[in-house]
Amino acid sequence: MIVYKTEEEIELIRASAKVLAQAHGEVAGMIREGVTTRELDKRAEEFIRDHGGQPSFKGYNDFPYSLCISPNSVVVHGFPGDHTLKSGDIISVDAGVLLNGYHSDSAYTYPVGEVNLEVLQLLEETKKSLYLGIEKAVAGNRMGDVGYAIQNHVEKQGYGVVRELVGHGIGKKLHERPEVPNYGKRGSGLKLQTGLVLAIEPMVNLGKKDVVQEKDGWTIRTKDYKPSAHFEHTVVVRKDKAEILTSFEYIEKALQ
Ligand code: MG
Ligand code: MG
Repeated sequence: MIVYKTEEEIELIRASAKVLAQAHGEVAGMIREGVTTRELDKRAEEFIRDHGGQPSFKGYNDFPYSLCISPNSVVVHGFPGDHTLKSGDIISVDAGVLLNGYHSDSAYTYPVGEVNLEVLQLLEETKKSLYLGIEKAVAGNRMGDVGYAIQNHVEKQGYGVVRELVGHGIGKKLHERPEVPNYGKRGSGLKLQTGLVLAIEPMVNLGKKDVVQEKDGWTIRTKDYKPSAHFEHTVVVRKDKAEILTSFEYIEKALQ
């Protein structure tokens, strides 16, 4: 069953998404060499709880942390811990907030210190593909239009787009129907309607598209150990233009 949201519900998701965007800004302000991913997780959890929310991921299918932190060849679902950020790393930070009964979900990938140009371009183009996908998330289009826009852009750059993990509907549950693949055929799939709230989240590999799961049962990394980027927004489908409910505004301010 697909749950279309009322304007009242969208307001609640917007409030959740605001706390999430600010929590990302807090984390962004800490990204530097020498910081451990555990410190980032701790700060994000404190911030979310201080603002009346709960970290959506903590306890979700027994996931033990508030953030998924995925360095370099880790695509998604990495555990925060002793990994110390060092120059040349990229680090994906994925977070969710539950506030007043509604979830929001967003991710950003950071360069740490001096990162080689090829990898910086991967970050830029993955972020661009997110916005190209969002542009297609308008009423009357099909889900395949969103996936096609993302896939077409990143494959043109020679990147691999992950198939095994996809975006999703979001609302009272963190993961709702429908799935939002980052690949697809134009004009195929579910017809998008106003009030559909989606987490759109391209996961893009510098090398091949193939991924493997580590023995911890969570961490997903690229099979060829090349770096991977992940950007995500929570958006609502509307008539002429999707509305982005999460924001990178606080992140970008902190990075200036
Ligand atoms: Mg996420
Ligand atoms: Mg998500």
